[in-house]
Amino acid sequence: MSQGGERFQVIVAGAGIAGGAMALFLSHLDTDLTVLESRPRRPNTTEGGMIMLGPNGMNVLHGLGLSSKLRQRETGIQVSHITIRDGSGDLIGRVPQGSVERHGSASTALLRWDVHEVLLDALEEKRIDMRWNSRVESMEETDNSVLVRWSEAGETKEKRADLLIGADGIWSTTRPSMYERLGLAVTKPRYSGLVGIGFILDIDSVPGLASYLTLDQPIVMVHDHLGFVGMMLYDKKGKKVGWWTTHEASERSREEWEIPREQVFHELHERYSTCVFPIPQLIQASEVSGGQPFIWPVYEVERLGRWNSRRTVLIGDAAHAMPPHSGQGASQALEDAAHLAHLLRQYLQHRDSAADLQSVLDTFQKVRQPRVDEIVDEANRRGNMKRETSRVGMFVRKWMMRIIFFFMTQRWMDRWFAYKVPGIDDWETLCPGE
Ligand SMILES: Cc1cc2nc3c(=O)[nH]c(=O)nc-3n(C[C@H](O)[C@H](O)[C@H](O)COP(=O)(O)OP(=O)(O)OC[C@H]3O[C@@H](n4cnc5c(N)ncnc54)[C@H](O)[C@@H]3O)c2cc1C
Repeated sequence: MSQGGERFQVIVAGAGIAGGAMALFLSHLDTDLTVLESRPRRPNTTEGGMIMLGPNGMNVLHGLGLSSKLRQRETGIQVSHITIRDGSGDLIGRVPQGSVERHGSASTALLRWDVHEVLLDALEEKRIDMRWNSRVESMEETDNSVLVRWSEAGETKEKRADLLIGADGIWSTTRPSMYERLGLAVTKPRYSGLVGIGFILDIDSVPGLASYLTLDQPIVMVHDHLGFVGMMLYDKKGKKVGWWTTHEASERSREEWEIPREQVFHELHERYSTCVFPIPQLIQASEVSGGQPFIWPVYEVERLGRWNSRRTVLIGDAAHAMPPHSGQGASQALEDAAHLAHLLRQYLQHRDSAADLQSVLDTFQKVRQPRVDEIVDEANRRGNMKRETSRVGMFVRKWMMRIIFFFMTQRWMDRWFAYKVPGIDDWETLCPGE
């Protein structure tokens, strides 16, 4: 028990990857937790598409006692490297993705839902006060508490807590509310000019694909002058393929992004018709499969000066919207949760003394931001390589990429993958399961 015998009250806004992991870490400490999630109910299984979880992200799940649960699923395969080619099939490079031997865990290709579901299952098992259909609207702070208001199934509710953790993603409402309270200009997400369009297919729907994408070469990325196409196997039998394209497109309203299927395929055929196997075939097979494309315009938020106030802190995409091009957004959201939990664990041990919560939150930003900024910068560089260029421009770009990928050795990638959040191995005693 803490000060005055009262438990430390925390409200987590958002139950995505950052919020789910955060709540789980805190459930092992002396806290009274409420998780508010705006989605009406648990999401379905393909929402979120495919992602790569780096060894650094896997190591956080291991600390939570969840990596073996993830490994038991049908989806999720180890990835030793990513193969990069150009539209005519020429090899540009192979980027190493780490390994169990080197980093304790391997990079893993899986559905974002795989990570989300193991987190949500664990939250349910722990009987955490988890409220769906609850959207955080605003907060007010005093020196010692934060009053959080939310709408829950249409009804306005409020609760006072010691700490509000805004894990509510790129479209966070915690962020503008906190910035207004701090008297700072509110930073809004802006469209990056790139859109991602993705599909899921059975590997057998494209003849020959099973010998192109294999468990030894599960991810291939193709840079062409009009855009980028990525494809990955993500199930242990090597039968399921997720593929996606990223290319430039002008901004639209939310409704206008619901582009009719025929229009999507018309544009894909036009854009990628000169690419070699298997790109035209993937487009064709997806068109005849009748499946709906996932469409995600890529938004970004400029670097934030403040991640926290006295009693509120932002984590995950709410603090540093991570462009999808790094393959590190989920891993960084997990690292944030683990690092903040580590600092709060120390704070709660000394809460009766002069421990100061704001300095804990300041420290969190100070230690996390340089790492995250470096990854965002690299993601933006990769995103720029997906923008349109002439054929001559592509020729130059290809050689630049060859040089860059030549230097992206296993040792270079250690900067991302070998990182371990302080104290992460100590949680194993609190989170049995591995
Ligand atoms: C196309 C695409 C591909 C990607 N590929 C990769 C990849 O390969 N590897 C990787 O690591 N990352 C990848 N990412 C990024 C990664 O998915 C995100 O960075 C990560 O999910 C961020 O987690 P989060 O919990 O911070 O935010 P989110 O996952 O966005 O979760 C925020 C949650 O908060 C809820 N919420 C929002 N507003 C409120 C509110 N006001 N009140 C209550 N709840 C609210 C939302 O419903 C949501 O559940 C990709 C992202 C995209 C879009």
